[in-house]
Amino acid sequence: MPIRLLPDHLINQIAAGEVVERPASALKELLENSLDAGATSISVDLAEGGSKLIRVADDGCGIAKDELALALARHATSKISSLEDLQRVRSLGFRGEGLASLASISDLVLTSRAHDASHAWRVEADNGRIGEPEPASLTTGTVIEARDLYFNVPARRKFLKTPATEFAHCEEAFKRIALSNPAVQWTLSHNGRAQWRLAPQSAQARAAALLGDAFGENALAIDETAATLRLSGFAGSPTESRAGRDAQYFFVNGRFVRDKVVAHAIREAYRDVLHLDRQPAYALYLELDPEAVDVNVHPTKTEVRFRDSQAIYRFVFHCLSKALASTSAGRPANTP
Ligand code: ADP
Ligand code: MG
Repeated sequence: MPIRLLPDHLINQIAAGEVVERPASALKELLENSLDAGATSISVDLAEGGSKLIRVADDGCGIAKDELALALARHATSKISSLEDLQRVRSLGFRGEGLASLASISDLVLTSRAHDASHAWRVEADNGRIGEPEPASLTTGTVIEARDLYFNVPARRKFLKTPATEFAHCEEAFKRIALSNPAVQWTLSHNGRAQWRLAPQSAQARAAALLGDAFGENALAIDETAATLRLSGFAGSPTESRAGRDAQYFFVNGRFVRDKVVAHAIREAYRDVLHLDRQPAYALYLELDPEAVDVNVHPTKTEVRFRDSQAIYRFVFHCLSKALASTSAGRPANTP
């Protein structure tokens, strides 16, 4: 075959394989967009584990009529404009791929009202073709409805699990984001039934709502700073340990992150107070200078690279050891 450039629609579908691997990853992209738009209230409706419908409504800044089509275009973003911006990015998104990918593998309708607009507009993406904006009614913010995910990518559709499993992944994505944004009001419903209703609340109340009251009552509060690092949040009491790692939430500048160095520091800090086969529960928030961490590692971004991972290790270990030493169940990590 001769070499040729692929059409945009196909490029988007190929990228979608990575960016929106399953309904939960599409949901994550949409929720991050709502947060980046400054939303204080976000509602999610799912049907059939998200494969039939993902609908996210927010009260964020909205999108102007003449930028609606651009929002659905690949590599179009309002969040960065230079390499310098990328190096100190504070928004959750920055690749400009989320909506383009989702629009290429679903029936997508984007309705939005910019705050200075007299009414809302909607655009529809039909198998990669983006229609003209039409007037719509919406009092504030943005609503995105994506239906029939992967309807045009049978190879991918085959890999979707049951609606119950896909919903469990969506719910996990929702919990991660709700946990890192306690001041935001959230609702989640599935097949018309309300699953979560979270009022704006303190970080502690949010952690208790999502990790359980027993966690909330017994967790050790942490709030430590050292130079440009700050660690806050809640470390589960050793008495609230679990068999699995399902209640381990670590956020770096507001992003849920899985990191080997961090996981090791936490495991070491709990070593003296927890049986080897038990796992601690925690919701911990690390904040640091955006230039000290590279978030541009992978499209789904649960990985980051720290410029000085040893300093992160020492700091996280120190904070947790100190908190655990203060409980009667624990003893200082380095007493003889
Ligand atoms: P990225 O988030 O990486 O910029 P996306 O494809 O997810 O890329 O979104 C493209 C652009 O559309 C964003 O940069 C933003 O300007 C706009 N946008 C998307 N979702 C929303 C929303 N819920 N509210 C306001 N603007 C949005
Ligand atoms: Mg985005």
